[in-house]
Amino acid sequence: VLSAEELRQFEEILEDRKKQLTKNINDANSEIDSLHSIELNDEADFASASSDDFTDKAIADQQSRELGEIEEALVKIKDKSYGICDMCEEEISIERLKVKPFAKFCITCREIYEKSPKK
Ligand SMILES: [Zn+2]
Repeated sequence: VLSAEELRQFEEILEDRKKQLTKNINDANSEIDSLHSIELNDEADFASASSDDFTDKAIADQQSRELGEIEEALVKIKDKSYGICDMCEEEISIERLKVKPFAKFCITCREIYEKSPKK
């Protein structure tokens, strides 16, 4: 079981990461907006702008997904279910949480989850 002190540390890590991600997402959005406001009169410019756009969007998607997971983890800290695997309800090891503080599954379930076909 995680001590109150450990929980507080994870909460801090998650809050920091959340701030960072929120900032990144906001920056990326304003960058995409400014890109769209530029008149593109050359086909090559347009192609490179679109591929940049695509990469930005993929990164932004990835970051908003992570942000969602972090928010879930923060809720769990508050209702004291943090660090418990969503699948088997066993405790997730602290070593794993240190690597991935918003982990939802223990290592065993994570492997099962990754091997199972995605819906
Ligand atoms: Zn599990």
